[in-house]
This record gives sequence, structure tokens and C-alpha cells, in this order.
Amino acid sequence: MTQYIFVTGGVVSSLGKGIVTASLAAILEARDLRVNILKMDPYINVDPGTMSPFQHGEVFVTADGAETDLDLGHYERFIRGARMSQRNNFTTGSVYDEVIKKERRGDYLGGTVQVIPHVTDEIKRRIHAVGDGFDVVIVEIGGTVGDIESQPFLEAARQLRLEIGARNTLFIHLTLVPRLAMAGEIKTKPTQHSVKELRSIGLQPDVLICRSEEPLGREVRNKIALFTNVEERAVISLEDAPSIYQVPVMLNDQHLDDIVVELLRIECNAADLGEWRRVTDALAHPERRAKIAIVGKYLDMLDAYKSLTEALTHAGIQHRTAISVRYVDAEELEQGGCGALADVHAILVPGGFGERGFEGKVRAACFAREHNVPYLGICYGLHAAVIDFARNVAGLDNAHSTEINPNTRHPVIGLVSEWQDRDGTTEHRNGEEDLGGTMRLGEQRCLLADSSLAAGLYGKASVLERHRHRYEVNNNYVAKLAEHGLVIAGRSDGDDLVEMIELRDNDWFVACQFHPEFNSSPRDSHPLFRGFIAAANRYAARPAASAA
Ligand code: GLN
Repeated sequence: MTQYIFVTGGVVSSLGKGIVTASLAAILEARDLRVNILKMDPYINVDPGTMSPFQHGEVFVTADGAETDLDLGHYERFIRGARMSQRNNFTTGSVYDEVIKKERRGDYLGGTVQVIPHVTDEIKRRIHAVGDGFDVVIVEIGGTVGDIESQPFLEAARQLRLEIGARNTLFIHLTLVPRLAMAGEIKTKPTQHSVKELRSIGLQPDVLICRSEEPLGREVRNKIALFTNVEERAVISLEDAPSIYQVPVMLNDQHLDDIVVELLRIECNAADLGEWRRVTDALAHPERRAKIAIVGKYLDMLDAYKSLTEALTHAGIQHRTAISVRYVDAEELEQGGCGALADVHAILVPGGFGERGFEGKVRAACFAREHNVPYLGICYGLHAAVIDFARNVAGLDNAHSTEINPNTRHPVIGLVSEWQDRDGTTEHRNGEEDLGGTMRLGEQRCLLADSSLAAGLYGKASVLERHRHRYEVNNNYVAKLAEHGLVIAGRSDGDDLVEMIELRDNDWFVACQFHPEFNSSPRDSHPLFRGFIAAANRYAARPAASAA
């Protein structure tokens, strides 16, 4: 029978519940258990796809094309045994959506539809749906205990514990134990209150994970144990860590996994965290440093670039390179020139939407091309590179993307429906006129060109990568661009869209239409990011650098 571990959070948000969830999953996997993870989000949006990155951070795209919470990115970076899919993240909004649909269809046979049992039943159905084939499912309940929105989730968890038995469920509660600077004291009261809140809805935590700036002493843990009715050994202290990848080892050092398997009565091997120790060792002892510019516009919300910065870190682990990211405001490049790019070792232009800052991205691509600085363009970063090349190398004046200028004379980037032969045989998801929900989403196969840089980096002829965009390189311009030295390094399987480009005359200039950052993890970094950081290191070590 699949067993369920629920992870809740108390006192404040942003304590790192997602990291703790992912880390526990990693340790259990290292004990040879089959682990899946589910994130339940309390907001009313049906999915995070429409939420602004300014508010919610990155939208993580799963292989099956679901637009999900960024915590799913952490899950995939920490475990190998389960791929996240659209079933691994759902919101209150989607639950209500389903319940209301059923009600409209008459499925409830005229009954009064209520939170208990109808909404909670739907939640439980979805929790069970991810259990098949796994020993343990860790369910992260978004939000903070006490929030009005998360109550149905907690209630569903309570019911589930009753239904499948206490020994098949476990509750872990994450809280904050602050130190008050003026009193010089560590305060346990917020934790006590938060647990009280949980108990008032019928949930007694089995384990507490106490987030604090420094390790908590025995006395404090003792006090928390006494007031919260949790065993002292299960009051775990988790201080701020220099890297999130240290958390599995930190939790294992305090025997979290031993407590979990004991309470769930699972017989399994001890955890082998050798790979995680190698990751943290590489992070702690870098041999060089690479300065990478990320040219974007969500600079007040760096979570918008979560997978991206993690992917850079992973490549850094591989090359024993500490990555320092310089976030460069694309709009500033538009106004103030490219000074901010002058001393970086590589330039990354990530995905994005809309007009604001786009010309700055084109400038960044132009700067990288002209100065032979390693460039990695992702999605919008590919569009920027193609537009720069079209305008400034291929002589296509004012070339543009129809996303920004629908009337451009040279639509080198556009919707497939705008430039494809209407009687053509290729049918493509982007072919619809209505933009709502018409993104090219999820994993698709890309065929790599022989002897391209990309084929060398990947070491294979075709790869699966994830998409999230509407606009494509216009195939009608490809011949003209290629004439001037743009290499089409990858094409989509079947519908023959441009997936990757490289510049023949540059040392390392690569752009892709897909998002490789979603396929990177600390133990297996991504080939493109590995190549990018290697190029940054070569650039940093070039003879001209010492002369400068
Ligand atoms: N705005 C571009 C498009 O929709 C690129 C999207 C992205 O970078 N994810 O095609």
C-alpha cells in the first residue's frame, strides 16, 4: 500500500517547504524507496500558467506540458525515480472547476454540493491518483496553516489519515523559530501556536522541522517537544544552508529519514547520500569563478529565473566553477548601451513575453556576437539572436517578431499560421488563430544537425526538450539567414520548425527554442549549460583577458 507523508508550513511562508519536501524525497530515494511528490496549491487560479512571473516566480513546465508551480522544478532536480506531470500539481481553483463541472453534468444526482465531502473527496481522489506504483508519496500543502484557502486540503489529509490508517500517513510541519535580536533570545512561541492551530483541526504533527538562522540546542528542541506533543528526536533543527543541495545531508544527519521509516514501519536500506555529498563538496570548493549576465526583465522577482540559475549552478558543479550571476535589466541596455556586459564571461538571454525590454535582449545578442562572448539564448533569447542576425548581418532592415510588430516587413519570427502555406500538409498546434491556450507546450523531439556544436554537446542525434512559447523562426527566411552564417543546429521532428541555431563565426553562440533549464539537475547537469559554462571558463582564461 502506498503511504503518504504530508508536509505543511506554519508561522510564515517562504520557509523552504518545497526544498524540504524534495530533500526528504531524495533521501528516501537513496534508501531505495519509490517516491512520488504532489504539490497542492491553495489559490483559485486553475493553474499558474496565467500568473505573472512578477508575482509567482517561474512557471515550471513538465514533460507532459503542464504549467506548474516552481516547486515541481525542485522536485525534479532532487529525485530521479518520478517525472513530474500535470497530476503532480493542482490548485484549489482546478478542484472547484472539476466539482462544478460534475455538478453541472448532474453527477451529484441533485445533492447539495459542499466542501465536505465533495471538494475534499475530489482532493483525495487526486492524492490517490499519484500513488500508483510508488511506496511513498510526499504531499506538500501550499500556503501556511491558518490560511482560509488551505483548509480543505488539511481536512482532506485528516480524512485520508483516518481512511488508510495512522501508520500509513505521516505529518511533517515546518515552522520558523526566530531569534529576537534585541532580547538575544530564541523564540518558540510562534511554533507552539502554529502546532496548536493544526491540532485544532485534528492534525497532530509527527515531525517538526524548525527553520532558524542557527542550529537549535537541545534545550530549545526539548521545550518545543513538550509544548507541541512531538517526540524530542522528531523536533529537527534546520538552519539556513549555504546551498539548497545541502539539505538532504543536513536532514539525514539528524535522522529524519530513520524517524520517517520507523513511524511508517518501512523496512529498507540505509541512505547512500554519496552523490549528494559530492555535489555539496563541489559547491563548497570551486576552483574558478564565472561571471554570467542574465539579461531579463523580472529583476524584482528573481524566482522567475529559478530553473535557469539552478541549471547554471549545476553546470558549475560539473566544472568546479562558482557562478556569479549578474542580472542585467534589458530595458537599461536599450537606454544606456552595453556597459553592464563589458566584463562578464558569458551572456544568457532567457525566455520572456511582450515588448518591454525586448530590444535590450536584441542588443545583448548583438554584443555577444560582435565581441565573441559566449551566448546562450533560450526561447525569447533565440528570437532576439535571430532578429539581431537578420538585421545586422543578413541586411534585413527592421526585421522583427510579429509578437511585437505584426506589420514588420521582415517577420523573421512569427506564428506558424502567419507564414505557413494554408494548403500545406503540416498541421501544428500553433496554427490556431486564438492565442489563449495555444502555446506549444511540453516535451518534443528535436533532431540535431550533424557536426553542430549542439550534437557534440548532447552526444546524440536527437533530444527531448520542453517548450513554452507561441512564436517560431519563420522558415521562409532560413535560407537567407543560413547564407550569412547562421547554422540551423536543430529542427523539430515532424513539423520541421527551427529548434536550435548557432553562429558559424563565433566560438560559442547557441540558442534554442526550448527550455533546457527544465531538464537540469545537480547530479546530472544539462549538456548545453555544461558547454556554456565551459565556454565561459575558456573566455575568462583567454590571453586577451590578462592583457585587459
Ligand atoms: N514570447 C515568445 C513566444 O511566445 C517567447 C516565449 C518564451 O520565451 N518562453 O514565442
